[in-house]
Amino acid sequence: MKFHVLTLFPDMIIQGLSQSIIGRAAENGLLSIEAVNIRDYTLDTHTKVDDYPYGGGAGMLMQAQPVYDAWKSVIEKIEPGAAANDSGRHPRTVYLTPQGQNFTQELAKELAKEEDLVLLCGHYEGIDERVLEEIVTDYVSIGDYVLTGGELPAMVMIDAIARMVPGVLNNEASGIHESFEGNLLEYPQYSRPEEWHGKRVPDVLLSGNQKNIDAWRREASVCRTRERRPDMYLQYEKLQRCLDYLKEQKLLHMDMIELINRGQARLVYAKKGNICLYDRASGIYFHTAETPEEGRSALHAMNEDAEVNGGVKLFVLHQDFMREQAEELLLAKELMSCYQAVYTRKEKLSITGLYRLDGKKQEGIAEIRPLTMEHMDIVTANYQTVDDADYIRDRIEKGWMFGAFIEGELAGFSGMHTEGGIGMLEVLPQYRGRYIGKALETYMINLSLERGMIPYGQVAEGNEVSRKLQESLGLCFSKTLVYWMEKM
Ligand code: SAM
Repeated sequence: MKFHVLTLFPDMIIQGLSQSIIGRAAENGLLSIEAVNIRDYTLDTHTKVDDYPYGGGAGMLMQAQPVYDAWKSVIEKIEPGAAANDSGRHPRTVYLTPQGQNFTQELAKELAKEEDLVLLCGHYEGIDERVLEEIVTDYVSIGDYVLTGGELPAMVMIDAIARMVPGVLNNEASGIHESFEGNLLEYPQYSRPEEWHGKRVPDVLLSGNQKNIDAWRREASVCRTRERRPDMYLQYEKLQRCLDYLKEQKLLHMDMIELINRGQARLVYAKKGNICLYDRASGIYFHTAETPEEGRSALHAMNEDAEVNGGVKLFVLHQDFMREQAEELLLAKELMSCYQAVYTRKEKLSITGLYRLDGKKQEGIAEIRPLTMEHMDIVTANYQTVDDADYIRDRIEKGWMFGAFIEGELAGFSGMHTEGGIGMLEVLPQYRGRYIGKALETYMINLSLERGMIPYGQVAEGNEVSRKLQESLGLCFSKTLVYWMEKM
């Protein structure tokens, strides 16, 4: 990912971000941070970049011309022609301002998906409004207080966003179990010695029993959130109540249950069993209803919520009786209907005869490992269901696509969709009938269990081959279908 910071104090940015994790990630080429001096672009002979505000008032204002020209130079490098483009589309440009939307973990995650991000730092009393109107796509504040300049806020944003870039944190899991994930703050942590100032580390953490440790941590997270962030706790509690309803039809709702369990869900609407969730990871809405009337209210809520987030694109319905309403109300069309397939047991599946994890070679036995970008072409050429190369690239980059290799050659692949279902399973024609699909599916199920997830996937109505495979591995199917809808 590339950060481009427009500033009057470039040294502040470069020095501030040259150390520790972010500095190392930049050195390793996982990200780049460029600081562009706005002063270099002024046409003023005395290199002035500010002037008095019209109408009087305290302080000086940064002028439009140098800011615009500095921005244009960056945009032209990223995407030649975009600055002059009539469509107004250009890489995302964030103005750091106390008047913006609050910077949150959720926004950090969203911005981490951008390849290039331009950050504009103001100084003095701010920047001439006219240039902001032309170039800014997002107004972001780091809190309700006023600082002297946008440099510290830009650094705060870069730090939080960069940690989401794959590979920046050594331990990928440390980005998952952290404060704000799933509306909970992180549990207290302890390191050596076992006793310090007469205070002992809680016994459970020394027990070696991972199940008890996880339960203790969860409980400690809940208590801490209730005490320190009652606003956040309220959200958490509401989602827990939704879970109770969703679990009444566990198989049908496994996608929504897992969104909540994995901390990806934002609650959009909930009135008893009429629920709409927004998946922060994929941007997809999930809707379930007890009655058509209540379901309609949830659909309205979804539509209103989406307007703030740039519109609904995809949404998933869990009842047949909602389809017509959704088509009418949202001008949507159905893309496909699927059964949920859920692995309901806790024990891992046996891998004997399917693949090995000990690195030893065995004839005809697949070696399964994460795919890398070198496999992109072969995956896009062979994966029929999603005709979206960007989506596949994203899945590979995030480490969620796996390949089965036979004698070093890719024989098939599978992965996890952004919203959490196992899928994208494809076996290359010449390798069919050799249990490669079974090996990949088994691998994905076991991996999900290892990562504390309930393994589930969705099988398109009529796909008997996939259904048989899932059944042979013991997955249970929902009685009714879920419907993937696309807004036209
Ligand atoms: N006159 C402006 C106002 O009242 O909104 C404040 C200007 S402030 C003194 C100067 C610059 O610092 C702003 O242009 C902005 O870039 C940055 N800044 C100050 N506080 C900020 C905050 N809470 N979040 C993000 N940027 C901030």
